[in-house]
Parts: sequence; structure tokens; C-alpha cells
Amino acid sequence: MVMKAFSYQTARDKIYNYFNPLARLGIRKYSFRLPFLVSVIICIISELYAKHIVHDPNSVGTYIIFVNVALILYFSFRDSIKGGYISIVITVAYYLYIIFDRHYEGSQFWVAVETTFWLAILYLILASIVGWLKQRIDILIEQEMIARYEAEARQAQLETILQQLPVGVLIVNRNDNKMIGNKHLEKIINRKVPSSLVLSDATEPITHPSTDKKIFPQNWPIAKALFKGEIITGEEIDILRKDKRKIHLSVNAAPIFNKNKEIIAAVSTLYDVTEAKQLEQRKDDFVNMASHELKTPITSMKLYIEMLLKWVEKYQDEKINKNLHSLRIQTERLQELVSDLLDVSRIQTGKLYFRKEKFDIVDLIEETVSILQGATNKHTLVFSKKESIFIFADKFRIYQVLTNLVTNAIKYSPENNEIIIRIKKQHLKVVVSVEDFGIGIEKNQQRKIFERLYQVSDLKTKMYPGLGMGLYISKEIIRRHKGSIWVEGEKGKGSTFFFSLPIKK
Ligand code: ADP
Repeated sequence: MVMKAFSYQTARDKIYNYFNPLARLGIRKYSFRLPFLVSVIICIISELYAKHIVHDPNSVGTYIIFVNVALILYFSFRDSIKGGYISIVITVAYYLYIIFDRHYEGSQFWVAVETTFWLAILYLILASIVGWLKQRIDILIEQEMIARYEAEARQAQLETILQQLPVGVLIVNRNDNKMIGNKHLEKIINRKVPSSLVLSDATEPITHPSTDKKIFPQNWPIAKALFKGEIITGEEIDILRKDKRKIHLSVNAAPIFNKNKEIIAAVSTLYDVTEAKQLEQRKDDFVNMASHELKTPITSMKLYIEMLLKWVEKYQDEKINKNLHSLRIQTERLQELVSDLLDVSRIQTGKLYFRKEKFDIVDLIEETVSILQGATNKHTLVFSKKESIFIFADKFRIYQVLTNLVTNAIKYSPENNEIIIRIKKQHLKVVVSVEDFGIGIEKNQQRKIFERLYQVSDLKTKMYPGLGMGLYISKEIIRRHKGSIWVEGEKGKGSTFFFSLPIKK
């Protein structure tokens, strides 16, 4: 029953839409057949009516003109100029048929011809205007429809991308605070995204990751982007979900501007980095623990080696002596590595502390150079002593930086044996440099080598042992002393490492 009613309804709709010119606006399919057939049928009916119903061929008069005008207007509006003109041709042909069929003569003939002519002109004007208007409207509607279709398609595309992104995305409108979030965001926060951003202090608690302090909604990354136009990258926040799970997010946010450079919305991306953080924490804890655990046995090992060395010296056994020396060097290396690991772990956990004092850095350099010169017989360390320069710093840590730079200079210049250490005053700073003529560093790597565990990865550099911790530790030490550290030089020609520190007045 329902099916029948439904098909009847659609059939009726179809017929209605076929004949209703308003329903055909925007459809640029203009029929030939319909105006032709209907016009012909109307003329035939008129002819039959006059000859066989009224029995007066001359009764075809003014009424047919009205009917024709109506038809021409209808077809011009339905099928544009084409439909109107077809109807005109049939109409005029019918008028001419009447003139010849009724055997008009003399002035009656000429009046009929003239009337037909002027009516034809009138019909043409009407059909042209209405038909042209119909075509223009169709084109406009079609363009509008295409634009709308494209906008909808773009919107759908964006919507799909937004929903499928493997990161939480939040968009907030400026004028009504309306919020849209994607599925991934709902997964991260374990709830539906509220429909609007409520900037009340009573809303969900968002906390600072390291201090656990509450971050009020006005200071949420999305609010800062929306109301202050700030661009936020990698801000870390913690949120407590309804299921009591605390999750750690890394958030980016940026304002969206209109053509007049006014903020109309803001978009924020949220990454759940809880697991990565936990893993990193576990790694740091492990390194910290392992370094602590290793420290004690290595120190004892060193002590035993020293004792053994002294004891063995009595026996003058060359072979044992040599082996014990190598063992000592390896143990020292192990000790340095463990102590570097411990330092990295201290930096990561914010537990690198300094014991600052006032001392002469020129003296410290001289001392360091003499110790390191004692450990190498291949390289010459050049340093010309100058007048004292006092700084206020942790002496051991500055010694550590110097040792790291000079040992790197030795390590990475196997062919050239000169290393020049310089010191100079510059305004209120002292600048120390260590220059070598070794393998050098590519320009694009010169910043990266100060990152944690970074090592230049080309084949030649890979041959040198190391873990990429020394420069990272040095950078932290210098940075925390309000100084800076950098490198200059070229690949293949050598490098000069600089660090600067404030002078103690
Ligand atoms: P590593 O233990 O690997 O030497 P560092 O942090 O001291 O760690 O150095 C990081 C990287 O920087 C090194 O692996 C090396 O590629 C590069 N580098 C450091 N000093 C020099 C230098 N004097 N000449 C060339 N490359 C250097």
C-alpha cells in the first residue's frame, strides 16, 4: 500500500516538475518536442472548434491571439528562447494557413498579412526577452549550485580529514565560543567535547605538568590563541579525566584570521604523550640508577688496580705492568662514561647543582692544559698565559667543560697535532676558545651537536667512539652560568669551540 502511494506520489511530482517552469529553473535542458507538439495541437483544436463545433471558420479570432501569447510566454519561460521561437513558428504558420484557407481577398487579405507580421514581431520580442531572462536565471542558479556543491564537498573533505587525524583537534569560534572536536580528541579526554568553550574557573581542572598547579581557562592554549592571537607550540599540560586517569598532553594552538586580519576562530592540536613521558621517565630513572650502581664498583676497581700496580712494580714484570696500565685507562674511561651518564640524568631531572666560587680562569686553563698534555704525546696543546681573569663559577664544572672541548679536539684531529687554546676579555665577558685542525663539522650540524646524545652520523665521524653526551653537558653547564657556547669552522678544515662566561667584577 505504502509502495503504491509512494510511486503515485513520485509520478505526480514528476509530471508537476515537468510542466512547472518554476520547478525547472536552473535546469538547462530545453525541449523541442513539447513546444512543437503543444502548439500544433492547440492550432488543430482551434481549427476543429471553428469548423466542426461552431461551424464558422471566421470565428477563429482574438481568443487565439491570447492563447498564443500565453503559449509563447509559457514556452519561453520553460524552454528559453528556443521554446518560444518554436511556438512562434507554429503560430505564424497557422495564421498564414488561415489567410490562405479562408480565401481572404483585397484589403482583407492585406490587413490579415499585416496583422500577422506585427503579431510575429511582438511575439519575437516577448519570446526573446522572457527566453533570455530564463537563460540568465538558469546560468546564475547553476553557478550558485556548483559553488555550493564545491563548498559542501570541501567541507566534507575537511570534516573527514579532521575526524580521521590521529591527533586530537579542537576548533573554537570567536563570536559564539562554539567548539568542534574530532573523534580522537574525545578518545583522549574520554568524554564528548562540550558544544561551547566555557571560560569559568569552575571548569575541568587542567594542571601544570611539573608543578601540578591549576591552569585557569583564560590561560589554556586555545583561549590564548583565540583571545590574544598567540601561537603556542608544544605546551605541556596535564588533565585529570573523569576515570581519574591523569594524562599528559602536548598542545599546539593558533588563531585563524579573516581577510581583515581579525581573529574568527582558533584551532588547537592535542597529542597524548602520557606513554612517551612515562617511558622517558623510566629511561631516565634507569640511567640514573644504573650510573649510581656502576659508580661504586668502578671506584673500587680503580682502587684495586692502583694497589695492584704498586704491588706489581716490585716484581718488575713488564707484561703484567703493561696490562694493568691498560686496565687502568679502560677503567678511567668507564668512570668518565658513568659520570657523564649521571650528569645527563641530573640535567634531565633538574638536579644538576653548582658550588660556585671566585677563581682565576686563566690559572684553571693552564692547569687543565698541563694535565691533558700529560695524557697525550701526539698532540701539542698551545696556550700562552695572560693576566688573571676572575669569574664566579663552579670550578670543577668549568674544568669539565674545558676537558671535554680539549679531549674532543684531540679525538677529532688525528692527523694534525696542534691545538690552540685562547682566552680574551670582551666587554663584561671572558671568551675561551679551543681550536683544532681536524675533521671539522658540517655547518648544518654545528647547532645540533649540542643536543642530547647527538653525534654527527657520517661514516668518517662514526669511527670515533663516544655517546654524544659531552657537549650537551657542557652546554648545560655554560648556560646555567649565564654564558654561551658555540662552534665555528668548516668540514675538513677543523673546528673552533668557544664559550663565554660573565667576569666577576
Ligand atoms: P662524543 O662523545 O660523541 O664526542 P660530544 O657531545 O662531545 O660527544 O660531541 C658530539 C659530536 O660532535 C661528536 O660525536 C662529533 O661528531 C662532534 N664533535 C665534537 N667535537 C668535535 C671536534 N672538535 N671536531 C669535529 N667534530 C666534533
